[in-house]
Amino acid sequence: MTPPAPGSTWRWVVIHGDASAIGLIACLGGAGLSVAAFAAGWPLGWAALGLALASGGTALVAWTRRAWLALLDDVRARHAGDEPGDSPVPWVADRVWREANGFDPVLDAPMVLRAEVQPSLRVYPHDEGPAVVDPVLRPVSDAERELQPAQPIAEGTPPPSADADGLRASLVGTPGRFVVLGPRWPVCCGRLSTLTARTPRADERAITLPAQGMADGDPHTPPGLHTYACPACGRVWRTHPTWSGD
Ligand SMILES: [Zn+2]
Repeated sequence: MTPPAPGSTWRWVVIHGDASAIGLIACLGGAGLSVAAFAAGWPLGWAALGLALASGGTALVAWTRRAWLALLDDVRARHAGDEPGDSPVPWVADRVWREANGFDPVLDAPMVLRAEVQPSLRVYPHDEGPAVVDPVLRPVSDAERELQPAQPIAEGTPPPSADADGLRASLVGTPGRFVVLGPRWPVCCGRLSTLTARTPRADERAITLPAQGMADGDPHTPPGLHTYACPACGRVWRTHPTWSGD
């Protein structure tokens, strides 16, 4: 079926769920009225009214369902070609950025539809972030760096910085329609490492950095979750979010 037109009342009530609720109430109320009218021996008109309400309510629920599915198809078609582009910050890899900011037809379609009629329902009220919440800088020690060979520093690599507050402020300002909660972000060669994977990924080069204060190999140290690569030396690090290790 054709979805209700943009800006129409029907579109609003279908997305809001009101039409479904009204249909369900009419259906149940009508059925109850019919049963009561038959049981109490009321004039037939009451039973007929109840049946009419029940069938009208059922039809409204069925129509609303079809209209909702048509609206979902419509919003999926409108966003099918969305291209998140490259990461705007060097500490989030392009692949992670695209995975996290692409339009998910299953999860995002209902959310986007509801937000079209009620903007306050957006899961991510600001597409500009914050995408990185409560980050903790995890400086990589010289001893940890010696565990992996270094790559030559490529041209265009951001300059090093000893300003931890500045690095943390950069992280907190990360844009994006995703959330990385409580990451322990490796700082290697004076630079923020680049997040290359948010889920454990096979990479034999990756070295898990234990929480500071914990010995390497401490059995309480959970396996690394996020994978990072240093933009300067190319070493690969893995850490776990702060909330699972502290
Ligand atoms: Zn490095």
